[in-house]
Amino acid sequence: MSDQRAFDTQAIHAGAAADPATGARQVPIYQTTAYAFRDADHAARLFNLQEVGYIYSRLTNPTVSALQSRVAALEGGAGAVCCSSGHAAQILALFPLMAPGRNVVASTRLYGGTVTQFSHTIRRFGWSAKFVDFDDPEALRAAIDDDTRAIFCESISNPGGHVTDIPAVAAVADAAGLPLIVDNTLATPYLCRPIEMGATLVVHSLTKYMTGNGTVTGGVVVDSGTFDWSASDKFPSLSAPEPAYHGMVFHQTFGNMAFTFHGIAVGLRDLGMTMNPQGAHYTLMGIETLGLRMQRHVENATRVAAWLEQDPRVEKVTYAGLDSSPWNATAKRLYPKGAGALFTFAIKGGYQAAVKLVDALKLFSHVANLGDARSLVIHSASTTHRQLTEDQQRAAGAGPEVVRLSVGIEDAADLIADLDQALAQATA
Ligand SMILES: *Cc1c(COP(=O)(O)O)cnc(C)c1O
Repeated sequence: MSDQRAFDTQAIHAGAAADPATGARQVPIYQTTAYAFRDADHAARLFNLQEVGYIYSRLTNPTVSALQSRVAALEGGAGAVCCSSGHAAQILALFPLMAPGRNVVASTRLYGGTVTQFSHTIRRFGWSAKFVDFDDPEALRAAIDDDTRAIFCESISNPGGHVTDIPAVAAVADAAGLPLIVDNTLATPYLCRPIEMGATLVVHSLTKYMTGNGTVTGGVVVDSGTFDWSASDKFPSLSAPEPAYHGMVFHQTFGNMAFTFHGIAVGLRDLGMTMNPQGAHYTLMGIETLGLRMQRHVENATRVAAWLEQDPRVEKVTYAGLDSSPWNATAKRLYPKGAGALFTFAIKGGYQAAVKLVDALKLFSHVANLGDARSLVIHSASTTHRQLTEDQQRAAGAGPEVVRLSVGIEDAADLIADLDQALAQATA
C-alpha cells in the first residue's frame, strides 16, 4: 500500500490486501502454530534469514504481520514488531540496546506501571533508569552518561495531561548519539507521529486506543529505520556479530530493517512475548476506525474538561487542551488535532471526596484501563500509582485528590450529567 495515501485510508488498507490464498477481503485469523516448508532447502533458508517467510508463530504469523505493516505505515516507520502487551513492547525496545551496567534516561512523567518496571524490574537484568524532567533539556543532557543507551518518554503522558516537546527531546538524544523511544499510546499516530519529530523507536500499548474497545492486550515497537546503529560501538547487538544469531551482523545485513529483524529473530524468539493472531485481528478491526474515534474522543474530552474547569466543586483540571494548561502552547504547536482524551482533575475535599466520586459515577466504569470507547475513571493514587511513593505520585500528577478520566465516545452531555450527579454526592 502506497505511503502517499492519507491516514484514514491507510488505517483501513495498509498491510491488508485480499488474502492471496482465498481472496478473503478481511484479514483472516491464521490460527496456526507452524507453516509447512516447501523442502529442506527452503527451511534452511528461512532459518538463516536468507529468505523471509513463516516458520513458527512465536516469531511471525500472517495476521500479526498485517498488523505490523499497518502500524508501521501509520507511524511512518520502516518496520514494526508486535508483542503481547505494552509492557512487553518496552522490554522488546530496550533489549537490543541495553546490557548489564547500562541505563535508560526516562521522563518523570510516565504511566505508573512503567515507572515501576523501570525503577525495579529492569534492575534484575542489570539495567537501570534515571528519571528527569524532560521539560528541562539541560537536566536531560546532564543525566546522560557513558552508559546511557536510550532516552524514553511518552508523547502525551499518563495521567497528568502533559505533552512532551518531542523535537526538543530528540535534539538532545541526537546530539548524544542515542535513540529516542517514545511511548505513543495516549496520542496514537492520529494525534502525534513521533518519528516525524525525530524519534527513533515508537512503542504502543495496543491494548488502549489502537484497539479501542477493551478486548485485547497487545503491544508494538515501530522502528523509524533512520538510526545509525554502527556510528558508535554502543549497540553491539545490532552493529557487531550477534552471538545469539550465529554471528550475524544485523545492521550490515538488514540496513534500515535491522532493529525489526533483531526484534523478531532474537527478541521474540528468545523472550517469547508474542502477540496472538486473534488479538492482532481485533486490533486490525479497531484501527480501521482510529481516526473517527480519536476525533470524537478529543471533542468529548475538550467539552468535559471545560465543563469541569468552571465547576466550583473542582479544584483544578489538568488537560493540555485547555487554555489554562502550562502545556497548552506545546499542545497547539505539536499536537494540532488535540491533546488526547485522558486527563485528571482534583476535587475539593481531598482523598475522601475523590474516592466517593469514583463510587458515585454510573456511566463511567471504574476500571484500570484507558482508551476504551466507554468512559472510564480511576483514582490513580490508590490503584495504578499505588506502588509509587507520594513524591513520585505527585511528580506523575497522581496526588491523593486527583481523579483520572479516560473520556469515551458516548454523547458528551450524558457524560457531563453523570459527573454532575457524582460531584454532588462526593461533595455533599
Ligand atoms: C497501558 C499502558 C502501558 C502498558 O501497556 P499494557 O498493554 O497494559 O502492558 C504502557 N504505557 C502506557 C502509556 C499505557 O497507557
